[in-house]
Amino acid sequence: MQTPEARSVPGRRAVSFSVVDPATGETFDEASDQQPGELDDVIVRAQRAWHGWRADPAARTAALRAAADAVETAGDDLARLLTREQGKPLAESCAEVARTAARLRYFADLAPRTRRIDDGRPVHSEIRWRPLGPVAAIVPWNFPLQLAAAKFAPALAAGNTMVLKPSPFTPLATRLLGSVLAAVLPEDVLTVVTGREPLGARLASHPGIRHVTFTGSVPTGRAVAAAAAGSLARVTLELGGNDAAVLLDDVDVDRIADRLFWAAFRNCGQVCMAVKRVYVPARLHAEVVEALAQRAKAVAVGPGLDPETRLGPVNNAPQLARVEQITEQALADGARVASGGHRLDGPGYFFAPTILTDVPPGSPVVTEEQFGPVLPVLPYRSLDEAVDAANGTGFGLGGSVWGTDLDRAEAVADRLECGTAWINHHAELSLAQPFAGVKDSGVGVAGGPWGLYGNLRPFVVHRPQEG
Ligand code: NAD
Repeated sequence: MQTPEARSVPGRRAVSFSVVDPATGETFDEASDQQPGELDDVIVRAQRAWHGWRADPAARTAALRAAADAVETAGDDLARLLTREQGKPLAESCAEVARTAARLRYFADLAPRTRRIDDGRPVHSEIRWRPLGPVAAIVPWNFPLQLAAAKFAPALAAGNTMVLKPSPFTPLATRLLGSVLAAVLPEDVLTVVTGREPLGARLASHPGIRHVTFTGSVPTGRAVAAAAAGSLARVTLELGGNDAAVLLDDVDVDRIADRLFWAAFRNCGQVCMAVKRVYVPARLHAEVVEALAQRAKAVAVGPGLDPETRLGPVNNAPQLARVEQITEQALADGARVASGGHRLDGPGYFFAPTILTDVPPGSPVVTEEQFGPVLPVLPYRSLDEAVDAANGTGFGLGGSVWGTDLDRAEAVADRLECGTAWINHHAELSLAQPFAGVKDSGVGVAGGPWGLYGNLRPFVVHRPQEG
């Protein structure tokens, strides 16, 4: 994806880049355009800080709890800045800040378990867990704070230090978060760097980094894995999704329509685990299209700082162009619009919430990730056909099944090839659960204790039994 515009002093390299408010399309601030060469010093410092940070688990717990408190204290400033640069409604930014603090608190109290192996041999074998060293985190623009916390909370709790790079579309709230946390964490335990590419590429390939944890698109994930291969750093990749919602023939459309709508449109559809395709029994197709289109027409779209707004703008100009292009392609392929289908007049990156019907199954809005406020609703004739279609893309992040008979719905959910499947919900996550995509949607496991162990390595000590 294109990156933001550089601001340079004539005759010198760019020193900053513009940050745009997606509700206006206007630049409202700048962030430092750090250069790849600056990472050497940052990573040496992270390496030095690691020795103290890894040594004292009780001090880490206390520091991470203090970090959670500090995030809450700065909550209003963080949320406003987040809405300004990301576009989401202020209430959703406040919820994101709350989830950031909750994640810190959850991992502050999580410790790895030392285990003994008892396999009958005359030795004591004990598995202990060691941190890895400086970890690099690279995150996208859709949930900048919450996804950053999903990286730094487990990594720091495990005793690693971290260099964190936000997306150049949303560097400001993360930069503020970095300074809030710097006041309560030891120096250089968490460093936020901002800049345009190739800063991320250099961070992923830097020989001082022992684990690269990345969230973003599939193509960039592949580039990150290739970059990290040089130093054989561990790689965790949380990548794109194209989640299907499969409605069963006993579904109560009135009852689920709101939940289904928001599962697709929350954060303007810019959620890795949004519902991105809906499969409906042919008999119910018109009713479901109508229920979703009604909601799409009625929802309040506007700037995130307006308290009436439920749906903000698309985050950035290249993503808006992508949403527009994938919709136009669907229309050219024969789809029809049940609501929306176009940009909204006026300033900012607004796109009318769009429900598409009659979409050919091969159209990119079905086979690829639209990552925006556009939803195709597809009819099916047999359940096998629906399950095959749901499983028929390269993605495998999440999926959901909607119906009244919960046992039957669960049996269908069990057939979905993805990391998490919900019944009558979508994208509801607990801090304590594993989070892992299959196929192109990811490598490695984040979330819960699995996220902690993903930032540790086993260290085994053998010693002979006494006597
Ligand atoms: P992106 O892949 O374009 O960028 C992600 C991050 O990588 C940004 O910080 C970007 O600056 C950086 N980057 C770009 N090129 C790089 C390179 N060559 N080397 C290293 N870093 C590089 O993704 P995006 O457009 O910011 O975010 C949207 C994507 O993220 C969607 O595909 C979405 O599904 C995915 N996502 C996945 C999850 C998940 O948990 N699975 C969560 C949120 C978003």
